Amino acid sequence: MFIKKIGIDLGTTNTLVFIPTKGVVIFEPTIVAYDLNDNKVLAVGHEAKEMIGRTPTDIGAYRPLKEGVIADYKITKAMLKYFISKTLGSFNIFKPIVIVSGPAGITSTERRAVINATLEAGAREAYLVREPILAALGASIPINSASGHMILNIGGGTSEVAVISLGGIVAWASLRIAGNKFDEAIAEYAKKKYNLAIGEQTAEKVKIDIGSAVSQKNKLECEVRGRDLDTGLPRSVIMNSNEVAEAISGHLEEISETIRSVFLNTPPELAADIIEKGIVIAGGGALLRNIDEFITKVTGVNAYAAEDPMFCVAKGTGIILEHLDVYKRAVMSKK
Ligand code: ADP
Ligand code: MG
Repeated sequence: MFIKKIGIDLGTTNTLVFIPTKGVVIFEPTIVAYDLNDNKVLAVGHEAKEMIGRTPTDIGAYRPLKEGVIADYKITKAMLKYFISKTLGSFNIFKPIVIVSGPAGITSTERRAVINATLEAGAREAYLVREPILAALGASIPINSASGHMILNIGGGTSEVAVISLGGIVAWASLRIAGNKFDEAIAEYAKKKYNLAIGEQTAEKVKIDIGSAVSQKNKLECEVRGRDLDTGLPRSVIMNSNEVAEAISGHLEEISETIRSVFLNTPPELAADIIEKGIVIAGGGALLRNIDEFITKVTGVNAYAAEDPMFCVAKGTGIILEHLDVYKRAVMSKK
């Protein structure tokens, strides 16, 4: 069967491609390896990530999106082209209709850039839908109802908080504190406490393997390898989940401040709905242990992680693609 519609979660860290009836078919890092001499794309996604820190000087590994919007147009277009043709395969004779995600605060210029890049990458029609709406849909929230819903999306570069009612965004805020900042904080902690320099990927692994948003009695531990800052020699230490919680506590506090600011701008009736229904957490950060407990504690409102939180936005694109008429208010075109 020919593929006529595809949805793309164009994240700063990860890009997912969704096909209605099939589900998520691509889930790869938003990274492109580029040859500066020939202006040629060498690798995209997983393959490009492998090359980070291992490339000769004339090859660069780029993250073409910053804070959810295009930072490098040419490379983003090349990446979209690669993902779209990989999704369609070589026998697909139709150009597809494509829905791409964008951050809540995307400007009209940034929106046009995403849509044009998608069209030039091989789409017949391209539309943009704002991420909180997609994340909510993917988390099975009935966004067209008159009730208020709050969604917290913690990605790699940014976290976004939004209140949704009647298919639209009523209040929102975004901050540049998310997964990457957690990793940096863990590396900083290892430096200060253990005099140990650890890499970005090691710090992320510590976060994923043992990280927790709050301290706990039964702490998890893992071995962390790095380089001693005095001797310059390799050394390892044991870190535990409570240390991770301590390292990232300042960042989590800022996220909770942002949630409070969004509540301040939320009409009371909708705030009452949210108290009843709870705060839904999506994005990779929703997988951090006890993040639900932390958000519940600091807001006093029950919070819970969506099912498959890293897939919510992609699933949302699928729901919109299948019911374009129902969600037409959420679908943004070039104008
Ligand atoms: P984006 O939308 O910015 O592309 P994602 O929603 O894909 O981001 O989330 C990526 C972030 O989620 C990364 O910072 C990654 O380290 C983090 N992440 C992934 N899995 C986990 C986990 N199990 N625990 C904590 N953080 C995680
Ligand atoms: Mg995302």
